Amino acid sequence: MALENDVDLKEQIRKAALLNAVSHDGKAQAGAIVGKILGERADLRSRVKELSGVINTVVNEVNILPLAEQKAIVEKNWPETQKREKAEEKRLPPLPNADKYPLIVTRFSPNPDCVLHLGSARAILLSHEYARMYNGKFILRFEDTDPKVKRPSLVFYDSIRQDLKWLGCKVDEEYIQSDRLPIYYEYTQRLISDGNAYICECPPEEFRKKTLAKQACPCRNLTATDQLERWNRMLGGGYAEGQAVVRVKTDLEHPNPAVRDWPALRVIDTKKCPHPRVGSKYVVWPLYNLAAGLDDHLMGMTHIIRGKEHYTNMVRQKYMYQHLGWEYPEAIHYGRLKITGAFLSKSKIVQGVKDGTYTGYDDPRLGTFAALRKRGITPEAIKKMIIDVGSKPNDVTLSWENLYSYNRKILDAVSDRYFFVPEPVELKVSAVPKTFHAKLPLHPENPDRGFREYTVAPETGDGTAGLWISRRDAEALEVGRVVRLMELFNVQVSGKTGDSVKATFASESYEDVRKIKVQLIQWIPMGAEFPCRVVMPDASVTEGFAESACKKLKADAIIQFERFGFTRVDQVGEKMVAYYAHK
Ligand SMILES: [Zn+2]
Repeated sequence: MALENDVDLKEQIRKAALLNAVSHDGKAQAGAIVGKILGERADLRSRVKELSGVINTVVNEVNILPLAEQKAIVEKNWPETQKREKAEEKRLPPLPNADKYPLIVTRFSPNPDCVLHLGSARAILLSHEYARMYNGKFILRFEDTDPKVKRPSLVFYDSIRQDLKWLGCKVDEEYIQSDRLPIYYEYTQRLISDGNAYICECPPEEFRKKTLAKQACPCRNLTATDQLERWNRMLGGGYAEGQAVVRVKTDLEHPNPAVRDWPALRVIDTKKCPHPRVGSKYVVWPLYNLAAGLDDHLMGMTHIIRGKEHYTNMVRQKYMYQHLGWEYPEAIHYGRLKITGAFLSKSKIVQGVKDGTYTGYDDPRLGTFAALRKRGITPEAIKKMIIDVGSKPNDVTLSWENLYSYNRKILDAVSDRYFFVPEPVELKVSAVPKTFHAKLPLHPENPDRGFREYTVAPETGDGTAGLWISRRDAEALEVGRVVRLMELFNVQVSGKTGDSVKATFASESYEDVRKIKVQLIQWIPMGAEFPCRVVMPDASVTEGFAESACKKLKADAIIQFERFGFTRVDQVGEKMVAYYAHK
C-alpha cells in the first residue's frame, strides 16, 4: 500500500506533528517527525523517501493552523501529553470568535499624560499576549485628543514606548490620534449629513434636563443643511469653548441617561491651550468615544480587551457603528486589578513629581513601571502575575507581596549573592589561629557562576582579625554566645561596646555548631569594604558596606544581598548605589 493511503500512519504523523508544533511556537519540524516515526516503525526504514513526502504534506497542513488551534486539538485529543506544561505555565483562555477573523488585532491605547503604572499592566499584557498567541497584530495608539484637561506631554510618548519595550511587548503598528483629526472630521461630516449626529448649542444644564426627560433638544431636528452650516462654523472657529458640541444620536429612551445623544466633539481654545504636538492648528477636538470608536474600526481591531469601566462606552459607540454600517469588534471587559496600598491616580503622580514630593517618575514609592524597573522588579514577574490573573470580569486584589513572590522565584535562580553590612560595626576576633581564605560561591546551587574570595588574617602579634558586621546583628549578640560568620568560622562573643564587638575564635567547621543552631551572619573583612547606599521602597536610605567584589558589578545587575534582600545596582563608582526590591 502506498504510504499516503495508510490512514493509521497518517494519524500517527498528524499527532506527532501537532505535538511538535505546539512545543515549537506553532511550526512543526519535519525532520524531527521523520526520526520519531522511524523510531516507532522500523519497517519503514527502507521507504524513508516516501515517508518524508507524506510527513511534509501533513506538517504543512498542521503548520497552517494558528498556534491556538493546534493547542486546542492537542488538548482535546491527547491531554495527557500537555499536563506537565500546564502545571508549569498557565495559559490564557482562547479569545471569543477568534476563528471569525483572518488576523487577530488588539491594541493598547494610553493617553500620554503620565508615565504608565502597574494599573495599565493588565490592558497591555493581555492585549499583547493575545496578539502573539494568534500570530496577530498589536497596535499602540496614543489617545492624545484632550489638550486641555488630560493634557498630553511630549516626554510621555517616549516613556510609554520604552515601558512597552521593557515589558517585552513588541508594537507592530503605532498611531497618534492628534495626527488623525482630518479623519475624525470626515466621518463626523458623514454622520451629520446622514442625520445621525447634530451640533448642539444648548447650555449643558438645559440639555441635561431635556435628556433626563427623554426629550430632543431644539438642535436635534434641524435640517442637514443647518447642521452642516453649524459644523462649518465650528471648524472655522465661530464658536467659543462650551458654545457647541457635536452629539451622536442614540435612542433617547435608552435606560442609561449617560448614553443618550452622547457628546462626540467639542471646541477647545488651543490658542490658550496649545496641543504639544499640533499646537493651535485645530479648535475642534474629538472626545474619547468618537476617536476611539472610529479608530477601532479603521485600524481593523478584532478584539478590544479593557477594563469593565469601559462597558458603557461600548454601548455608546455601538450606536455610531450602527449609523456607519459597521460591526462592533469583540469586547472583553475585565475586572479591576487592585494592589493593596499601591498606586495613586495619574494626576497625583504628575502633581507629586512636579511639586517635589517624589524624586521623579521612578521614585521607589510609586507603582510606575519606571519605579519597578529601578527596583529590580522584572517584567517577567509582572507578566506572569497578569496571565495568572487572566481576563475575568471579577475584581482582583493583589498585594505587593504577591508580585514580590513572582519576582523572587525568577530572581532566586539567577541572582548572584553578595554580602552587605548595613550600618557597620567593627568585630574584633582574637586568637585567630591562621590565615583563612574564604571562597564564597556567587550562587549556592550553581558553582559555575564563580566565587568571591577574601582573606582573613590575624594581625602579627596578638592574633586579632578585624571585620565588619551589621549594627542589627551586633545588637542581637549576647556575650558568651557562639555565632557563625557565614562560610568562614565560628566565634564566641566576649564583650560589647557601642560601636564594637569583641569575640574569640571558636572553631572552623559549620558541623561543629550546626546542632546548636547558631545564628549565621554576614561579614566583610576590614579593608575589603565598599561604601554602599541602598534606597528602600519608602525612599529612605540604608547606608552600609558592600563587599569589595561588588566593585565589578555593572549598573542594572540584580543581586541578592544575603539576609538583606534583592536589590538592583543603580550606580557603581566611588560608592555603590542600589535600589531595594524585596526580601
Ligand atoms: Zn441642543
